[in-house]
Amino acid sequence: HHHLSFATAEGVEAVVDTGHFHPEAIVWQRLADYRAAGGYALLADCRAGGVTVESLMATLERANLRGLGGAGFPTFKKWHFVRQEPGPRYCAINADEGEPGTFKDRYYLERSPHRFLEGALVSAWAVEAEALYLYLRDEYPGLHRVLRAAIHELETAGLVPAGYIVLRRGAGAYICGEESAMIESLEGKPGKPRHRPPFVAQKGLFGQPTLVNNVETVYWIPEIWQKGAEWFAGHGRHGRTGLRSFSLSGRVRRPGVHLAPAGITLSELVEEYGGGMADGHRLAGYLPGGASGGILPASKADLPLDFDTLQAEGCFIGSAAIIVLSDQDDLKAVATNLLAFFADESCGQCTPCRVGTEKMLSLLERDEWQVEELERLSQVMMDASICGLGQAAPNPVLGLLKDFRGELAAQNVIVKG
Ligand code: SF4
Repeated sequence: HHHLSFATAEGVEAVVDTGHFHPEAIVWQRLADYRAAGGYALLADCRAGGVTVESLMATLERANLRGLGGAGFPTFKKWHFVRQEPGPRYCAINADEGEPGTFKDRYYLERSPHRFLEGALVSAWAVEAEALYLYLRDEYPGLHRVLRAAIHELETAGLVPAGYIVLRRGAGAYICGEESAMIESLEGKPGKPRHRPPFVAQKGLFGQPTLVNNVETVYWIPEIWQKGAEWFAGHGRHGRTGLRSFSLSGRVRRPGVHLAPAGITLSELVEEYGGGMADGHRLAGYLPGGASGGILPASKADLPLDFDTLQAEGCFIGSAAIIVLSDQDDLKAVATNLLAFFADESCGQCTPCRVGTEKMLSLLERDEWQVEELERLSQVMMDASICGLGQAAPNPVLGLLKDFRGELAAQNVIVKG
């Protein structure tokens, strides 16, 4: 067993037993193989002036590459905003991947760390960053070793100056996946979200303009450049464009990361990629965006899954973590499990979230659910919480009250009002 010690989100030292973990088991593409397949050609072209920032931004705009951490903000626009600000600037990549049900970043990092690193280095180049920070969740100790080795390969090959890429570990706090909390944590402080404005593009790491992107977003950049914007934008269904890496879990035959067209529906995703529902299970509903993106019933399995398409339902896709529920899942347990998670992970900085998540959990644990009380509390949390955690925490509860009355009654949850 190995013991690790580090600073936690609360700023105190913690010791973690990592158990029997064998990172040697991870098979990843080494630098020589990646380069032999054309890897780092884009980075070399960028540095040599063969590719301009403007042309790359135009390509990303045509590809419609959006922030795949969950916000869906157009990548080229983010570059533009950071580039407008006076330097020095930084680039920080969010590899915290803490949204329950999300495991796509891990999937890509374990296989092609260099493809990710090339995308990250190109992004850092695009904003003339002084340094590139990688914030990796500590629950991925095997990946920490992989990334350290890959960075070492780059330094040894003279492709990046020693120390330009700074690899930092999180400490198990979900909230550090929120970009401003991640910045605080990178600065060595407790991971508490900042008020906005100013945005991190204006005042981010060490008070300087900072480009923050998710792992998967930058992972696509080398391939989009190689194959062209039209290749990426050419995928898509039901009026949406691009590719999305769905982390599919729950009651399906083939859970896992499935690369599918943006805008695919839940029924299509489960049938065509997930191998259908697990034996003996009937679709009851699904969480379209991990713990925070709300919950939808089986009758709404034909909505296009993508950014902005679920808004009318009070849901969002976020990082595309799809959790499939069946008639055998206990809906009250789903609700209390999610709220217990949010209550645990609340950073405690603001009252509507710190007290609201605890209060909501206690209301859900009762034999009778009081609709008016739950809705009033939800409204306060959504209106007055500082960050997305407190704002999104009521989503699954509101979804259950809206669309699952019959199922709740069948499971003996009494809903009053
Ligand atoms: Fe912290 Fe919750 Fe407030 Fe976000 S909403 S700042 S997690 S207390």
